[in-house]
Amino acid sequence: MRASSIGAFQTFKMSVGPSSSHTHGPILIGNMFRRLIQEEGVKDFDRLKIHLYWSLARTGKGHLTDNAIIAGLMGLDPVTDDLEKINTALARTTTSGMLSLGVKEIAFNPVKDFVWSPFKRLPGHENGMNLSLLDADGAVVFQRNYYSVGGGMVQEEGHGDREDTETEPFPYRKASEWLAYASKHGLPLSDIVKQNTAALEGQTVDEVVGRMHRFWDVMKRCVERGLKPTETVLPGVLQVKRRAPQLLEAAVRPKRRGIFASNDICRYATAFAYAVSEENAASGRVVTAPTNGGAGVLPGVLYAGQYLDDFSDDEIVEVLFTAAGIGGLIQANASISGSEVGCQGEVGAACSMAAGAVCQLFGGDIRDTEYAAEIAMEHSLGLECTPMKGYVQIPCIERNGIFAQKALAAAQHAITLKDHRISLDLVIEKMYENGKYMHADFKETSRKGFGPIVPDLHFEV
Ligand code: SF4
Repeated sequence: MRASSIGAFQTFKMSVGPSSSHTHGPILIGNMFRRLIQEEGVKDFDRLKIHLYWSLARTGKGHLTDNAIIAGLMGLDPVTDDLEKINTALARTTTSGMLSLGVKEIAFNPVKDFVWSPFKRLPGHENGMNLSLLDADGAVVFQRNYYSVGGGMVQEEGHGDREDTETEPFPYRKASEWLAYASKHGLPLSDIVKQNTAALEGQTVDEVVGRMHRFWDVMKRCVERGLKPTETVLPGVLQVKRRAPQLLEAAVRPKRRGIFASNDICRYATAFAYAVSEENAASGRVVTAPTNGGAGVLPGVLYAGQYLDDFSDDEIVEVLFTAAGIGGLIQANASISGSEVGCQGEVGAACSMAAGAVCQLFGGDIRDTEYAAEIAMEHSLGLECTPMKGYVQIPCIERNGIFAQKALAAAQHAITLKDHRISLDLVIEKMYENGKYMHADFKETSRKGFGPIVPDLHFEV
């Protein structure tokens, strides 16, 4: 896949928390299956069985995958429908014992009709799912396999790859080619992505810029909601306290000679990244950047830049295209799926995108931007994914806050040092290699690391 064929709006998508691959993707799969049976005129069935495989089965409960699929099968849209309606889909089905698939309403018992297969993996990806319609005798009359391949992207088995038509004005596979176009034409990296996205979407450059403004708006609203939450504790068994307001308070009123006395932007970026990640953990509306798990890093650093340095919305939107370009490179040449390459592909990728974007925002040139993205990814190599009890909370929320600081540090390094020996292309290649050799237990299966345990300390709520 060419990196340039991944438009900015394949990286940034309006999403529902807590996971792009385990929540948002399954809603889309439910939508696809509902549409498919309608198009194919399938009506002679009495039951539906939903099989979840490998990572989807291992961390699906904490990621609310079962609720997500039911919401999708009901025809709910993750972007336009009310969150309350989406988040209560499973509970409503459990109470009524019925599920409407559009063409027909059938009896559905979530306890019996979901099959969780944590030790089986479908051939196409770690996040596999089978939806089967059965007749009254239990014979399968229609079935499809689907994959949620990361960042909210989904595929039906056998329909994976798009036709490779080259519609972008600046086609490239590697960062080196992206940089070469920018140098040759005297354009910022963001402009190359903007023009490619416009061509891919069949829109004008002004239209895609307008769309990106709407994404930035959703990111900002998410930060603001997260700073004033209505609940103090996140949903789920871990009883994790929401701490963005506390971090903002520490940022606004640093103690003299305290640890927060200097480096303003870091302490604000941390608070803002927490705000988004806590909203995500509470099943709020977020923008994938490039996934839900890593959704706090990029808005965290950019919101801090705007808050402290008065960058305009236009300036922020410009660098969001650079961030999307970096995300596209990682997606095309490695992966942004935690179940495929660990958290390197989620928070690591988010950190790389944020580092490049904030570097350009603060005046870094093309080379500095590439260097910042490289540093951030280089120092995310080997980052595993072991969400505690499957909840995108520990270590995920804190990790977004810490990696927001890392993105800023990477940009500071790049703008100061400039000269570097390792390219972004090489580090992306190594990230993928790391991911492939990483033990499966450390890739969103919650079998090792923090995965199977609960916190060993408690706090006053
Ligand atoms: S550890 Fe990283 S990849 Fe895994 S669920 Fe948390 S944020 Fe996502």
